[in-house]
Amino acid sequence: MSNGYDVIFIGAGPAGYVGAIRSAQLGMQVAVVDNFVFKDGKPALGGTCLNVGCIPSKALLDSSEQYHKVTEHLSAHGITARGVELNVEQMIARKDKVVKDLTGGIRQLFKANKIEWIHGHGKLVDNREVEVTNADGTTERYTAGSVVLAPGSRSIEIGSAPLDGDKIINSDQALDLTAVPPRLGVIGAGVIGLEMGSVWSRLGSEVVLLEAQDELLGPVDRQVVRTAQKSFKDQGLDIRLGCRVTGTEIGSGAEAAVTVNYEDKKGEQQLTVDKLIVAVGRRPNTDNLVSGDVDLLLDERGFINVDEHCRTNLPDVYAIGDVVRGPMLAHKGQEEGVMVAERIAGKAGHVNYETIPWVIYTDPEIAWVGRTEAQLKAAGVPFNIGTFPFAATGRARAMDHSTGMVKLLAHAESDRLLGAHIIGPQASELIAEAVVTMEFAGSAEDLARTMHAHPTLSEAVREAALAVGKRALHKAN
Ligand code: FAD
Ligand code: AMP
Repeated sequence: MSNGYDVIFIGAGPAGYVGAIRSAQLGMQVAVVDNFVFKDGKPALGGTCLNVGCIPSKALLDSSEQYHKVTEHLSAHGITARGVELNVEQMIARKDKVVKDLTGGIRQLFKANKIEWIHGHGKLVDNREVEVTNADGTTERYTAGSVVLAPGSRSIEIGSAPLDGDKIINSDQALDLTAVPPRLGVIGAGVIGLEMGSVWSRLGSEVVLLEAQDELLGPVDRQVVRTAQKSFKDQGLDIRLGCRVTGTEIGSGAEAAVTVNYEDKKGEQQLTVDKLIVAVGRRPNTDNLVSGDVDLLLDERGFINVDEHCRTNLPDVYAIGDVVRGPMLAHKGQEEGVMVAERIAGKAGHVNYETIPWVIYTDPEIAWVGRTEAQLKAAGVPFNIGTFPFAATGRARAMDHSTGMVKLLAHAESDRLLGAHIIGPQASELIAEAVVTMEFAGSAEDLARTMHAHPTLSEAVREAALAVGKRALHKAN
């Protein structure tokens, strides 16, 4: 048995690796146990986010956007491109290099912070003891002052569309297609389904998304969703709502198609595609995470039960990231990692769960933070709304990217910013301004009186803040 760690993290995704770095900064002896193996067969740090999540999906979204720009949008700028060719294998290789460079970067950060990386499957065998099963099946035990569980999540599988890894695939496999499928089906029009659908649609696939709910992106501001739906339709994304997939059949031979049977309001339907991505959500990795005699409390959905400081029911055992309540987002896990490291060090770490930004990297991008109109109405909170369209900003027009708007919700009496909803160019970056304002308990007036560079997209945020007080300068109020 090896002893002497102040803290052991199980899982080296954004929650675990960031928590480990912060713990080391605070002077602790840290080990991280992680079992991830990249497709080249080598262990890699970074978890889902770096290897098969945020980063590779954004790399492919960027590549596909470049292709789409060249093939569809350059002519408006007076530029003619001929002989444009697509090399999907090279696109995937570039994505893999981005991933490798970043996961290698975390390795360097671990070395610089003297964090020990233990490759293997970690299991909590006692409050302060972790058993690691190595690749060769041997086991070793490690003890620590505290243990942080950060094992993340994995794709949900459904019985009506079992994966075969070739024709019916999950999001991990959809990041590694080597050719553009002429017809692509996606089950689930959530964040991941929409992003994957966008990548392959831009590269030329005919994409159909089958969504079980009657409304697209339920928790998102309805005005934003209406704008998104129109844009997605114009791009050729065929999103079918209220569809329940009942079964799938894979034909025979390499070129075989997948038949998807589903039911909608009109009855039984069929869809034929060349590849089918199942993107119906993710579930927490709690299998084989604790030994039978360790009484770790899970909630009714299988997530590890924690309090607002990510403490589990076991003393000195914390859980963070996708495996606990709250949105499955990398930055939320990172903040929890920092918080538990600081708590273990006796400091006052905390996470403000009211200001978690959400982003969907479609075109246009969608980003929001805080409350929606519907939530404020339901809670009986009086509020004012300020909206501003990107079409009324010089920068968005110059970029030829003027679909969308910024919408801000502020308390009717205090003017405190309660929510921001953005659809449009660079929404993923613009949302940060609203997050900072909310973190500082700022008002719409604070934003409205802050000078913004001209011409920038951020002027739309300021104009929306002015619009809360009905004094936007570049639109009629
Ligand atoms: P993970 O990143 O899942 O890491 C957990 C690690 O623990 C893994 O390496 C796993 O192999 C390992 N592990 C599990 N169990 C054990 C064990 N018992 N012993 C040892 N190791 C173990 N989020 C965003 O914020 N922005 C995005 O743009 C975004 N895009 C996404 C795109 C896709 C396609 C997907 C699938 C996800 C995306 N996400 C995005 C979500 C994001 O990836 C997750 O929220 C984030 O990775 C969760 O971090 P984590 O540290 O909790 O877990
Ligand atoms: P997300 O939670 O953002 O990953 O989105 C998952 C999406 O898949 C949600 O919009 C769900 O409504 C949808 N979904 C879940 N199960 C099914 C199913 N069996 N068929 C179609 N859509 C589904």
